[in-house]
Amino acid sequence: MGNTETLFERAKKVMPGGVNHPECAFGAVHGIPRFIEKGEGSQIYDVDGSVCTDYVCSWGSLILGHNHPDIRRMVAETIQDGLSFGAPTRLEVAMAELMVHMVPNVDKVRIVNSGTEAVMSALRLARGFTGREKLIKFDGCSHGHCDSMLVKAGSGVLATGQPDSPGVPAGTAKDTLVATYNDLTEVERLFAEHNGEIAAVIVEPVAVNMGVVPPEPGFLAGLRALCDQNGALLIFDEISTGFRIAPGGAQEVFGVRADMVTFGKVIGGGMPVGAYAARGEIMDDVAPAGPVYQAGTFSGNPVAIAAGLAQLTLLHEHPEIYVYTGALGKQLERGFRFLAQKHRIPATVGRFHSLLTLFFHNGPVTCGKQARESSTEAYAAFFNGMLAGGSYFAPSQFEAAFLSSAHTQAELEQTLLTADTVLAEMAP
Ligand code: PLP
Repeated sequence: MGNTETLFERAKKVMPGGVNHPECAFGAVHGIPRFIEKGEGSQIYDVDGSVCTDYVCSWGSLILGHNHPDIRRMVAETIQDGLSFGAPTRLEVAMAELMVHMVPNVDKVRIVNSGTEAVMSALRLARGFTGREKLIKFDGCSHGHCDSMLVKAGSGVLATGQPDSPGVPAGTAKDTLVATYNDLTEVERLFAEHNGEIAAVIVEPVAVNMGVVPPEPGFLAGLRALCDQNGALLIFDEISTGFRIAPGGAQEVFGVRADMVTFGKVIGGGMPVGAYAARGEIMDDVAPAGPVYQAGTFSGNPVAIAAGLAQLTLLHEHPEIYVYTGALGKQLERGFRFLAQKHRIPATVGRFHSLLTLFFHNGPVTCGKQARESSTEAYAAFFNGMLAGGSYFAPSQFEAAFLSSAHTQAELEQTLLTADTVLAEMAP
Protein backbone atom coordinates (compact mmCIF):
# COMPACT_ATOMS: atom_id res chain seq x y z
CA MET A 1 0.00 0.00 0.00
CA GLY A 2 1.21 3.52 -0.79
CA ASN A 3 1.22 6.31 1.79
CA THR A 4 -2.17 7.50 0.53
CA GLU A 5 -3.94 4.20 1.10
CA THR A 6 -2.25 3.70 4.50
CA LEU A 7 -3.20 7.17 5.67
CA PHE A 8 -6.81 6.77 4.53
CA GLU A 9 -7.10 3.43 6.35
CA ARG A 10 -5.77 5.07 9.53
CA ALA A 11 -8.01 8.09 9.02
CA LYS A 12 -11.17 6.01 8.61
CA LYS A 13 -10.53 4.33 11.97
CA VAL A 14 -10.54 7.61 13.87
CA MET A 15 -12.56 10.11 11.80
CA PRO A 16 -16.04 9.66 10.29
CA GLY A 17 -15.46 8.71 6.66
CA GLY A 18 -11.77 9.40 7.22
CA VAL A 19 -12.13 13.16 6.73
CA ASN A 20 -13.11 16.41 8.39
CA HIS A 21 -15.06 17.69 5.37
CA PRO A 22 -17.35 15.23 3.53
CA GLU A 23 -16.47 16.51 0.04
CA CYS A 24 -12.82 15.67 0.69
CA ALA A 25 -13.59 11.94 0.92
CA PHE A 26 -13.82 11.42 -2.89
CA GLY A 27 -17.00 9.35 -2.42
CA ALA A 28 -18.78 11.03 -5.34
CA VAL A 29 -15.90 10.17 -7.68
CA HIS A 30 -15.36 6.63 -6.38
CA GLY A 31 -11.81 7.26 -5.25
CA ILE A 32 -9.76 7.87 -2.16
CA PRO A 33 -8.57 11.30 -1.13
CA ARG A 34 -5.10 12.63 -1.84
CA PHE A 35 -3.22 13.65 1.31
CA ILE A 36 -1.42 16.87 0.56
CA GLU A 37 2.08 17.52 1.81
CA LYS A 38 2.65 21.01 0.43
CA GLY A 39 1.41 23.61 -2.00
CA GLU A 40 3.38 26.13 -4.01
CA GLY A 41 1.75 28.58 -6.42
CA SER A 42 -0.76 26.62 -8.50
CA GLN A 43 0.73 23.24 -7.62
CA ILE A 44 -0.02 20.74 -4.86
CA TYR A 45 2.23 17.86 -3.85
CA ASP A 46 0.83 14.73 -2.23
CA VAL A 47 2.36 12.22 0.18
CA ASP A 48 3.14 9.81 -2.68
CA GLY A 49 5.08 12.40 -4.63
CA SER A 50 2.39 13.26 -7.21
CA VAL A 51 2.27 16.88 -8.33
CA CYS A 52 -0.95 18.41 -9.67
CA THR A 53 -2.17 21.75 -10.94
CA ASP A 54 -4.74 22.62 -8.30
CA TYR A 55 -8.18 23.92 -9.29
CA VAL A 56 -9.58 23.67 -5.76
CA CYS A 57 -7.23 26.16 -4.08
CA SER A 58 -8.47 25.44 -0.56
CA TRP A 59 -12.09 25.61 -1.79
CA GLY A 60 -11.46 29.02 -3.29
CA SER A 61 -9.59 30.65 -0.42
CA LEU A 62 -6.24 30.90 -2.20
CA ILE A 63 -6.90 33.46 -4.92
CA LEU A 64 -3.15 34.22 -4.95
CA GLY A 65 -2.17 30.54 -5.04
CA HIS A 66 -0.49 28.37 -2.42
CA ASN A 67 2.15 29.61 -0.02
CA HIS A 68 2.25 33.19 -1.31
CA PRO A 69 5.49 34.78 0.02
CA ASP A 70 3.80 37.97 1.33
CA ILE A 71 1.17 36.02 3.24
CA ARG A 72 3.75 33.60 4.61
CA ARG A 73 5.97 36.51 5.72
CA MET A 74 3.11 38.30 7.50
CA VAL A 75 2.09 35.12 9.32
CA ALA A 76 5.70 34.34 10.27
CA GLU A 77 6.19 37.86 11.67
CA THR A 78 2.92 37.70 13.60
CA ILE A 79 3.60 34.38 15.32
CA GLN A 80 6.84 35.77 16.78
CA ASP A 81 4.66 37.68 19.23
CA GLY A 82 2.27 34.90 20.24
CA LEU A 83 -0.66 33.08 18.73
CA SER A 84 -3.76 34.37 20.48
CA PHE A 85 -4.57 36.78 23.28
CA GLY A 86 -8.29 36.95 24.05
CA ALA A 87 -8.01 40.72 23.59
CA PRO A 88 -8.21 43.00 20.54
CA THR A 89 -5.22 43.58 18.26
CA ARG A 90 -4.21 46.22 15.70
CA LEU A 91 -4.60 43.63 12.94
CA GLU A 92 -8.37 43.22 13.44
CA VAL A 93 -8.91 46.94 13.19
CA ALA A 94 -6.86 47.18 9.98
CA MET A 95 -8.72 44.20 8.50
CA ALA A 96 -12.16 45.65 9.29
CA GLU A 97 -11.13 49.05 7.93
CA LEU A 98 -9.92 47.52 4.66
CA MET A 99 -13.08 45.43 4.23
CA VAL A 100 -15.33 48.44 4.82
CA HIS A 101 -13.24 50.42 2.36
CA MET A 102 -13.42 47.77 -0.39
CA VAL A 103 -17.04 46.59 -0.07
CA PRO A 104 -19.92 48.92 -1.03
CA ASN A 105 -22.79 49.66 1.38
CA VAL A 106 -21.19 48.29 4.53
CA ASP A 107 -20.08 50.38 7.52
CA LYS A 108 -19.19 47.73 10.06
CA VAL A 109 -17.87 44.17 10.12
CA ARG A 110 -17.90 41.37 12.70
CA ILE A 111 -15.13 38.82 12.19
CA VAL A 112 -15.77 35.15 13.03
CA ASN A 113 -14.01 31.82 12.31
CA SER A 114 -15.79 30.25 9.33
CA GLY A 115 -18.34 30.83 6.62
CA THR A 116 -20.97 28.80 8.42
CA GLU A 117 -20.51 30.89 11.53
CA ALA A 118 -20.82 34.08 9.48
CA VAL A 119 -24.12 32.92 7.94
CA MET A 120 -25.54 31.65 11.23
CA SER A 121 -24.74 34.95 12.92
CA ALA A 122 -26.01 37.07 10.02
CA LEU A 123 -29.34 35.21 10.07
CA ARG A 124 -29.71 35.75 13.82
CA LEU A 125 -28.99 39.44 13.32
CA ALA A 126 -31.51 39.69 10.47
CA ARG A 127 -34.16 38.11 12.68
CA GLY A 128 -33.26 40.31 15.64
CA PHE A 129 -33.23 43.48 13.55
CA THR A 130 -36.55 42.85 11.79
CA GLY A 131 -38.34 41.08 14.64
CA ARG A 132 -39.41 38.40 12.14
CA GLU A 133 -38.54 34.70 12.03
CA LYS A 134 -38.90 33.28 8.52
CA LEU A 135 -36.15 33.13 5.91
CA ILE A 136 -36.13 32.50 2.17
CA LYS A 137 -33.26 30.55 0.65
CA PHE A 138 -32.78 29.00 -2.79
CA ASP A 139 -32.70 25.34 -3.76
CA GLY A 140 -29.11 24.42 -4.66
CA CYS A 141 -27.52 27.35 -2.83
CA SER A 142 -25.48 26.21 0.14
CA HIS A 143 -24.75 28.44 3.10
CA GLY A 144 -22.78 26.07 5.29
CA HIS A 145 -24.05 23.63 7.87
CA CYS A 146 -26.14 25.71 10.30
CA ASP A 147 -29.52 24.09 11.04
CA SER A 148 -31.71 26.73 9.45
CA MET A 149 -29.88 26.38 6.12
CA LEU A 150 -29.91 22.55 6.01
CA VAL A 151 -33.43 22.66 4.65
CA LYS A 152 -34.99 21.47 1.43
CA ALA A 153 -38.23 22.48 -0.20
CA GLY A 154 -41.36 20.71 1.02
CA SER A 155 -43.78 19.37 -1.57
CA GLY A 156 -47.02 21.19 -2.35
CA VAL A 157 -47.79 24.84 -2.87
CA LEU A 158 -48.06 25.91 0.75
CA ALA A 159 -45.44 23.49 2.07
CA THR A 160 -42.82 24.76 4.48
CA GLY A 161 -39.18 23.64 4.49
CA GLN A 162 -38.15 20.10 5.48
CA PRO A 163 -34.95 19.11 7.31
CA ASP A 164 -32.24 18.15 4.81
CA SER A 165 -30.24 16.22 7.42
CA PRO A 166 -31.18 14.07 10.39
CA GLY A 167 -30.69 16.17 13.50
CA VAL A 168 -32.20 19.35 12.05
CA PRO A 169 -35.39 19.97 14.05
CA ALA A 170 -38.57 20.17 11.98
CA GLY A 171 -39.42 23.27 14.00
CA THR A 172 -36.29 24.99 12.74
CA ALA A 173 -36.81 23.89 9.14
CA LYS A 174 -40.38 25.19 9.04
CA ASP A 175 -39.13 28.76 9.24
CA THR A 176 -36.96 28.36 6.14
CA LEU A 177 -38.81 28.69 2.85
CA VAL A 178 -37.12 27.40 -0.28
CA ALA A 179 -37.46 28.94 -3.75
CA THR A 180 -35.99 28.11 -7.15
CA TYR A 181 -32.82 30.01 -8.06
CA ASN A 182 -33.41 32.55 -10.83
CA ASP A 183 -37.20 32.39 -10.33
CA LEU A 184 -38.63 35.65 -8.98
CA THR A 185 -42.26 34.56 -9.21
CA GLU A 186 -41.70 31.91 -6.52
CA VAL A 187 -40.15 34.50 -4.23
CA GLU A 188 -43.06 36.85 -4.88
CA ARG A 189 -45.48 34.05 -4.00
CA LEU A 190 -43.64 33.21 -0.77
CA PHE A 191 -43.74 36.86 0.29
CA ALA A 192 -47.47 36.96 -0.44
CA GLU A 193 -48.15 33.74 1.49
CA HIS A 194 -46.09 34.85 4.49
CA ASN A 195 -46.93 38.52 4.52
CA GLY A 196 -44.98 40.41 7.20
CA GLU A 197 -43.21 37.27 8.46
CA ILE A 198 -40.04 37.13 6.36
CA ALA A 199 -36.90 38.51 7.97
CA ALA A 200 -34.51 37.97 5.09
CA VAL A 201 -33.79 36.49 1.70
CA ILE A 202 -30.36 34.86 1.60
CA VAL A 203 -28.80 34.17 -1.79
CA GLU A 204 -25.48 33.27 -3.35
CA PRO A 205 -25.35 36.19 -5.82
CA VAL A 206 -23.48 33.84 -8.13
CA ALA A 207 -24.37 30.30 -7.14
CA VAL A 208 -21.27 28.19 -6.61
CA ASN A 209 -22.53 25.28 -4.53
CA MET A 210 -24.72 23.63 -7.16
CA GLY A 211 -21.78 24.06 -9.50
CA VAL A 212 -21.41 27.57 -10.90
CA VAL A 213 -24.74 29.09 -11.93
CA PRO A 214 -24.73 32.84 -12.59
CA PRO A 215 -27.81 34.93 -11.81
CA GLU A 216 -29.98 35.70 -14.82
CA PRO A 217 -30.28 39.38 -15.76
CA GLY A 218 -32.69 41.09 -13.35
CA PHE A 219 -32.77 38.30 -10.76
CA LEU A 220 -30.74 40.07 -8.07
CA ALA A 221 -32.37 43.45 -8.77
CA GLY A 222 -35.75 41.72 -8.55
CA LEU A 223 -34.86 40.27 -5.14
CA ARG A 224 -33.82 43.76 -4.01
CA ALA A 225 -37.19 45.17 -5.09
CA LEU A 226 -39.18 42.35 -3.43
CA CYS A 227 -37.25 42.77 -0.17
CA ASP A 228 -37.87 46.53 -0.23
CA GLN A 229 -41.59 46.05 -0.91
CA ASN A 230 -41.89 43.57 1.95
CA GLY A 231 -39.60 45.07 4.60
CA ALA A 232 -37.17 42.12 4.47
CA LEU A 233 -33.38 42.22 4.42
CA LEU A 234 -31.42 40.98 1.39
CA ILE A 235 -28.36 38.96 2.41
CA PHE A 236 -25.68 38.26 -0.19
CA ASP A 237 -23.75 35.19 0.87
CA GLU A 238 -20.40 36.08 -0.67
CA ILE A 239 -18.37 33.41 1.08
CA SER A 240 -17.28 32.07 -2.31
CA THR A 241 -17.61 35.25 -4.42
CA GLY A 242 -16.41 37.91 -1.95
CA PHE A 243 -13.11 39.57 -2.95
CA ARG A 244 -12.96 37.04 -5.81
CA ILE A 245 -15.21 38.30 -8.61
CA ALA A 246 -14.31 41.96 -7.93
CA PRO A 247 -12.76 43.95 -5.05
CA GLY A 248 -16.27 44.92 -3.88
CA GLY A 249 -17.88 41.57 -4.74
CA ALA A 250 -21.29 41.02 -6.29
CA GLN A 251 -22.71 44.37 -5.19
CA GLU A 252 -20.04 46.07 -7.29
CA VAL A 253 -20.40 43.72 -10.27
CA PHE A 254 -24.22 43.70 -10.49
CA GLY A 255 -24.92 47.16 -9.10
CA VAL A 256 -27.42 45.73 -6.60
CA ARG A 257 -27.29 46.76 -2.94
CA ALA A 258 -27.41 44.07 -0.27
CA ASP A 259 -28.43 44.81 3.33
CA MET A 260 -25.97 42.30 4.73
CA VAL A 261 -23.01 40.42 3.27
CA THR A 262 -21.28 37.28 4.55
CA PHE A 263 -17.64 36.45 3.85
CA GLY A 264 -15.21 33.57 4.30
CA LYS A 265 -12.56 31.85 2.18
CA VAL A 266 -10.57 34.67 0.47
CA ILE A 267 -10.70 36.92 3.55
CA GLY A 268 -8.68 34.33 5.48
CA GLY A 269 -5.86 33.94 2.98
CA GLY A 270 -5.97 30.19 3.71
CA MET A 271 -6.70 30.51 7.42
CA PRO A 272 -10.12 29.98 9.08
CA VAL A 273 -11.82 33.38 8.96
CA GLY A 274 -15.41 34.42 8.27
CA ALA A 275 -17.20 37.74 8.63
CA TYR A 276 -20.53 39.45 8.28
CA ALA A 277 -21.03 43.08 7.43
CA ALA A 278 -23.84 45.58 6.97
CA ARG A 279 -24.63 49.24 7.37
CA GLY A 280 -24.13 50.66 10.87
CA GLU A 281 -27.82 50.76 11.76
CA ILE A 282 -27.99 46.94 11.44
CA MET A 283 -24.54 46.06 12.82
CA ASP A 284 -25.11 48.18 15.92
CA ASP A 285 -27.71 45.62 16.97
CA VAL A 286 -24.86 43.12 17.57
CA ALA A 287 -23.45 42.63 21.10
CA PRO A 288 -21.95 44.52 22.84
CA ALA A 289 -23.31 47.52 20.88
CA GLY A 290 -26.79 45.98 20.75
CA PRO A 291 -28.91 43.09 22.03
CA VAL A 292 -28.23 40.37 19.41
CA TYR A 293 -25.69 38.02 21.00
CA GLN A 294 -22.74 36.58 19.11
CA ALA A 295 -19.21 35.88 20.35
CA GLY A 296 -16.15 33.67 19.79
CA THR A 297 -12.95 32.77 21.66
CA PHE A 298 -10.85 32.88 18.48
CA SER A 299 -12.73 35.54 16.52
CA GLY A 300 -10.17 37.94 15.09
CA ASN A 301 -7.29 35.60 15.90
CA PRO A 302 -4.12 37.53 15.01
CA VAL A 303 -2.42 34.77 13.03
CA ALA A 304 -5.51 34.13 10.93
CA ILE A 305 -6.08 37.84 10.42
CA ALA A 306 -2.43 38.33 9.45
CA ALA A 307 -2.94 35.92 6.54
CA GLY A 308 -6.26 37.45 5.53
CA LEU A 309 -5.05 41.01 5.79
CA ALA A 310 -1.97 40.23 3.69
CA GLN A 311 -4.15 38.68 0.97
CA LEU A 312 -6.74 41.48 0.97
CA THR A 313 -4.01 44.13 0.94
CA LEU A 314 -2.46 42.57 -2.16
CA LEU A 315 -5.86 42.39 -3.86
CA HIS A 316 -6.54 46.01 -2.96
CA GLU A 317 -3.18 47.20 -4.26
CA HIS A 318 -3.23 45.07 -7.41
CA PRO A 319 -6.69 45.19 -9.01
CA GLU A 320 -5.08 43.83 -12.19
CA ILE A 321 -5.24 40.43 -10.44
CA TYR A 322 -8.99 40.46 -11.13
CA VAL A 323 -8.44 41.09 -14.83
CA TYR A 324 -5.93 38.26 -15.01
CA THR A 325 -7.95 35.65 -13.07
CA GLY A 326 -11.10 36.55 -15.02
CA ALA A 327 -9.21 36.02 -18.30
CA LEU A 328 -8.02 32.62 -17.09
CA GLY A 329 -11.63 31.70 -16.37
CA LYS A 330 -12.60 32.66 -19.90
CA GLN A 331 -9.72 30.62 -21.35
CA LEU A 332 -10.78 27.49 -19.45
CA GLU A 333 -14.44 27.97 -20.35
CA ARG A 334 -13.68 28.35 -24.07
CA GLY A 335 -11.41 25.32 -24.01
CA PHE A 336 -13.95 23.09 -22.24
CA ARG A 337 -16.79 24.22 -24.52
CA PHE A 338 -14.70 23.53 -27.63
CA LEU A 339 -13.61 20.08 -26.41
CA ALA A 340 -17.11 19.03 -25.32
CA GLN A 341 -18.37 19.90 -28.80
CA LYS A 342 -15.41 18.25 -30.51
CA HIS A 343 -16.06 14.95 -28.70
CA ARG A 344 -19.87 15.28 -28.79
CA ILE A 345 -20.13 15.11 -25.01
CA PRO A 346 -23.41 16.48 -23.62
CA ALA A 347 -21.87 19.15 -21.43
CA THR A 348 -22.14 22.83 -20.68
CA VAL A 349 -19.99 25.28 -18.76
CA GLY A 350 -21.23 27.48 -15.93
CA ARG A 351 -18.75 30.25 -15.32
CA PHE A 352 -18.51 33.58 -13.62
CA HIS A 353 -15.13 35.31 -13.57
CA SER A 354 -12.61 32.83 -12.10
CA LEU A 355 -15.25 30.31 -10.94
CA LEU A 356 -16.24 27.54 -13.31
CA THR A 357 -18.07 24.21 -13.52
CA LEU A 358 -18.16 21.77 -16.41
CA PHE A 359 -21.67 20.31 -16.08
CA PHE A 360 -22.26 16.97 -17.79
CA HIS A 361 -25.67 18.21 -18.86
CA ASN A 362 -26.96 19.37 -22.23
CA GLY A 363 -27.84 22.68 -20.63
CA PRO A 364 -29.07 25.14 -19.80
CA VAL A 365 -28.30 24.96 -16.08
CA THR A 366 -29.99 27.86 -14.30
CA CYS A 367 -31.22 26.29 -11.04
CA GLY A 368 -30.62 23.48 -8.55
CA LYS A 369 -33.01 21.05 -10.22
CA GLN A 370 -31.28 21.36 -13.59
CA ALA A 371 -27.83 21.09 -11.96
CA ARG A 372 -28.90 17.83 -10.29
CA GLU A 373 -29.87 16.39 -13.68
CA SER A 374 -26.16 16.38 -14.62
CA SER A 375 -24.44 13.01 -14.98
CA THR A 376 -22.39 12.50 -11.82
CA GLU A 377 -20.98 9.31 -13.35
CA ALA A 378 -19.64 11.24 -16.34
CA TYR A 379 -18.19 13.80 -13.95
CA ALA A 380 -16.47 11.02 -11.96
CA ALA A 381 -14.88 9.69 -15.16
CA PHE A 382 -13.76 13.20 -16.11
CA PHE A 383 -12.42 13.91 -12.63
CA ASN A 384 -10.41 10.69 -12.40
CA GLY A 385 -8.97 11.14 -15.89
CA MET A 386 -7.96 14.71 -15.13
CA LEU A 387 -6.38 13.70 -11.81
CA ALA A 388 -4.37 10.94 -13.48
CA GLY A 389 -3.22 13.55 -16.00
CA GLY A 390 -2.07 15.98 -13.28
CA SER A 391 -5.05 18.35 -12.87
CA TYR A 392 -6.83 18.35 -9.51
CA PHE A 393 -10.47 19.44 -9.83
CA ALA A 394 -13.10 19.36 -7.07
CA PRO A 395 -14.21 15.78 -6.36
CA SER A 396 -17.88 16.60 -7.04
CA GLN A 397 -19.96 17.75 -10.00
CA PHE A 398 -21.59 20.34 -7.74
CA GLU A 399 -18.51 22.38 -6.90
CA ALA A 400 -16.53 25.05 -8.70
CA ALA A 401 -13.07 25.07 -10.17
CA PHE A 402 -11.26 28.03 -8.61
CA LEU A 403 -8.51 29.86 -10.46
CA SER A 404 -5.75 31.88 -8.86
CA SER A 405 -3.25 34.51 -9.94
CA ALA A 406 -0.58 31.81 -9.63
CA HIS A 407 -2.06 29.80 -12.52
CA THR A 408 -0.51 30.42 -15.93
CA GLN A 409 -2.05 30.29 -19.39
CA ALA A 410 0.46 27.53 -20.24
CA GLU A 411 -0.79 25.43 -17.29
CA LEU A 412 -4.37 25.87 -18.46
CA GLU A 413 -3.34 24.79 -21.96
CA GLN A 414 -1.77 21.67 -20.45
CA THR A 415 -4.97 21.01 -18.51
CA LEU A 416 -6.99 21.39 -21.72
CA LEU A 417 -4.67 18.94 -23.51
CA THR A 418 -5.39 16.43 -20.75
CA ALA A 419 -9.11 17.18 -21.05
CA ASP A 420 -8.89 16.52 -24.80
CA THR A 421 -7.63 12.99 -24.11
CA VAL A 422 -10.04 12.35 -21.23
CA LEU A 423 -13.13 13.58 -23.11
CA ALA A 424 -12.05 11.61 -26.22
CA GLU A 425 -12.09 8.45 -24.10
CA MET A 426 -15.52 9.37 -22.74
CA ALA A 427 -16.96 10.13 -26.19
CA PRO A 428 -20.17 8.21 -27.02
N1 PLP B 1 -21.71 29.87 2.03
C1 PLP B 1 -21.15 29.67 0.83
C2 PLP B 1 -21.69 30.41 -0.37
C3 PLP B 1 -20.09 28.77 0.67
O1 PLP B 1 -19.56 28.57 -0.54
C4 PLP B 1 -19.63 28.08 1.82
C5 PLP B 1 -18.53 27.10 1.71
O2 PLP B 1 -18.24 26.54 0.68
C6 PLP B 1 -20.21 28.35 3.05
C7 PLP B 1 -21.26 29.25 3.12
C8 PLP B 1 -19.72 27.67 4.30
O3 PLP B 1 -18.46 28.15 4.66
P1 PLP B 1 -17.51 27.30 5.62
O4 PLP B 1 -17.19 26.04 4.88
O5 PLP B 1 -16.31 28.18 5.86
O6 PLP B 1 -18.27 27.04 6.87
